[in-house]
Amino acid sequence: MTIISSHAQAVPLNPLSSSDNWQQILKEAVRDPAELCDLLNLPQHADSARRAAEIFRVFVPRGFLKKIQPGDPQDPLLRQVLPLEAELQSPPGFSDDPVGDQPSTLLPGLLQKYKGRVLMVTTGACAVHCRYCFRRHYPYDESPPSPDVWQRALDQIAEDTSIQEVLLSGGDPLTVRDKLLAELAEKLSQISHLHRLRIHTRLPIVIPERVTDSLLDWLCASRLTPIFVVHANHPRELDAEVLAALERLVEAGIPVLNQAVLLRGVNDRATTLIELSEKLIDARILPYYLHQLDRVSGAAHFEVPVAHGQQLVREVRERVPGYAVPRYVQEQSGQLSKLPLG
Ligand SMILES: *Cc1c(COP(=O)(O)O)cnc(C)c1O
Ligand code: SF4
Repeated sequence: MTIISSHAQAVPLNPLSSSDNWQQILKEAVRDPAELCDLLNLPQHADSARRAAEIFRVFVPRGFLKKIQPGDPQDPLLRQVLPLEAELQSPPGFSDDPVGDQPSTLLPGLLQKYKGRVLMVTTGACAVHCRYCFRRHYPYDESPPSPDVWQRALDQIAEDTSIQEVLLSGGDPLTVRDKLLAELAEKLSQISHLHRLRIHTRLPIVIPERVTDSLLDWLCASRLTPIFVVHANHPRELDAEVLAALERLVEAGIPVLNQAVLLRGVNDRATTLIELSEKLIDARILPYYLHQLDRVSGAAHFEVPVAHGQQLVREVRERVPGYAVPRYVQEQSGQLSKLPLG
């Protein structure tokens, strides 16, 4: 603990540029597996973390680290960010593109799987590298945040009047500066057949400072109905600072939903899922999806068998109001929607 808090003191927030603090926090994120193990008092994991990080590198904002119990390799927040030896194994059935992103690519940075909505890979960058991520092998370098690439996507969206909703995803769209995002939202709002703008982001969870006034300004100024889908897997991710950031979105009138991934060793107990749902609902956030893990190489050790997931969701349903039960779904390439699992 002392190591982490003394570091936090070494990086004081700059009150003069509070709206840009999040960019500084992003710059200072831990990228070195040895430092991660050192800060969390897990020296015995440093060597395997270094090897596994060669395939998908480490990236953890320091505020997220403060929520992790040092010295506990089983901490559910740690497991989401610490590279493990197990990532070097890829059993049969696990692949680099498990959800069929490549065949759904309309243009670089634009995917369509479902009717009426398209997904823009706004940027390849994320504010945290989640070890289970289905895009851990995605060719992000071909999709940096680029207004030129966006323009081609905008032209395509403008031509297809069946599209009502644009999802900004990634990577994480909120790693992009508000000025660029505001310009993008403005261009999207000029496409008359669009109704909604959905933001899929983990930023408010890992860097709550990202919910800035300028973010709320452009979201609320848009003609398009904004919808936020955040991503928290464990109730401990929702500490007071994160809840305060989420409350600012809710207070601005923006619907906020949460999606989680069912992860072995993180949230594969009914009590954890119930606590997550209750905490979300109390914060006026609706649990939206609980995703079955996408079978991406390197993430096999996170998989929970579907039958066990179904049992967990039954237990959740028996304990919380219907509106607090997330839809348990699986991504399947070539289907017209995500597949409900029960
Ligand atoms: C998950 C996903 C969506 C959104 O699906 P909803 O069921 O509307 O939440 C849209 N496009 C792509 C490519 C997706 O993977
Ligand atoms: S924030 Fe989302 S896209 Fe980024 S690494 Fe985590 S799960 Fe993957």
